[in-house]
Amino acid sequence: MNFYIKTYGCQMNVRDSNSAAALLIEHGWSPVETEEAADLIILNTCSVRDQAERKEIGKLGFLGKLKRVNPSLIIGIMGCMAQSRGEELLNRVKHLDFAIGTDRIHKIPEIVDAIRKERIKHGSFERAGADTPGIDAHRFDGAESPFSAFVSIMRGCSRYCSYCIVPFVRGPERSRSMSSIVDECKMLADHGVTEIFLLGQNVSAFGWDNMAPPKDDATSPFADLLNAISAIDGVRRIRFTSPHPAYFSQSLIDTIARNDKVCKCIHLPLQSGSDRVLKLMNRPYDSAHYRSIVNRLVAQAPEIAFTTDVIVGFPTETDEDFNMTRDLMNEVGYDNAYIFKYSPRKGTRSSRMDDDVPQEVKEERNQILLADLEKRAESAHAHLSGRIFEILVEGPSKRNSARWMGKTDTFRQAVFTPDGIVKPGDYVRVKIGRTTPTTLYGELL
Ligand code: SF4
Repeated sequence: MNFYIKTYGCQMNVRDSNSAAALLIEHGWSPVETEEAADLIILNTCSVRDQAERKEIGKLGFLGKLKRVNPSLIIGIMGCMAQSRGEELLNRVKHLDFAIGTDRIHKIPEIVDAIRKERIKHGSFERAGADTPGIDAHRFDGAESPFSAFVSIMRGCSRYCSYCIVPFVRGPERSRSMSSIVDECKMLADHGVTEIFLLGQNVSAFGWDNMAPPKDDATSPFADLLNAISAIDGVRRIRFTSPHPAYFSQSLIDTIARNDKVCKCIHLPLQSGSDRVLKLMNRPYDSAHYRSIVNRLVAQAPEIAFTTDVIVGFPTETDEDFNMTRDLMNEVGYDNAYIFKYSPRKGTRSSRMDDDVPQEVKEERNQILLADLEKRAESAHAHLSGRIFEILVEGPSKRNSARWMGKTDTFRQAVFTPDGIVKPGDYVRVKIGRTTPTTLYGELL
């Protein structure tokens, strides 16, 4: 029997889809590349934006056509929208066979077996601890990268940023045990994985589930986890996303800066440079605290690069607030930023505020930040010409297969001409020549 999973949304969903696929394969199912070839289709859904949900519901409707052609087809949904609207959709969408919540991935093989035996609809939405069965299941059939792997270290989020729906759909923070994460990383390293990408909604609060932000001198369980993973033979690079600035204690800053295996590219969500707006967003830090984290990291690791998330047009955001965001972004000099135009999400605190920044102002602010970003990236990259970097090779470049690409430790994309020996997963040294705002071009040494 064949299955097909379509994934929407973030890296957490990509990871969950891979776990679900690995569990189905363990139970005798085979992955296929098209919906038409599948006996089981699962949509792994995202709820972060209204638009995403509309698209997924449209897709679910379209799958009804496939079911009319193949009545034995099983159709299910998982992920955030399944958690929040699964019951409603099971009642409303005739051809939907099952919906499972974000903590029920391990139940999929059992549920599809039951549906094959008896055609009744299944819904399963209970919360579970973070170490649920299957959370560490990976595919080693080539579908996941053989040298780089996502590892989920915690579930949920308890921060309740006023614009965000995640705590409502993914539940409260639950950290996995350090030993289970380290065991998973060891197993991945034994299979040849050298780059570990740790995932969670608030990874810097790992081990501090549901706790208020710590004092600056607190020891950090997340720093302990980074050190434990870096001690594994075979692991060469550790990345993580997303941390919350309020959970950066000095010991985490020291670990990131001093541990050579922790990549020097930190995604540090800013959201706004205005303290007034940060308060309305329920982000428990101010711009001075944010600056101090950046400055302390740069002081110890001058090559470090930053990326961020920013929201423009949050309710009541004035030109002055926006300019504070713009100034702080230029000061930090981010390599990349995910800029979102604010849109209210039903059920969140900010959705009760008047969405009073006109759409055209949001668009204009968005364009200003994007232009700043490009200008900065152009000059930052130009300064790297002549430098030598270690690159983790990913394979042929999408634009020109005669050239190959890989990533620096700072997550910059580097393109080079392969020598016939180099293969994906190798670490090579590349001397940079020409640069653009998005890419470094160089020669293999
Ligand atoms: S930290 Fe805030 S923005 Fe991030 S997932 Fe939690 S509530 Fe959402």
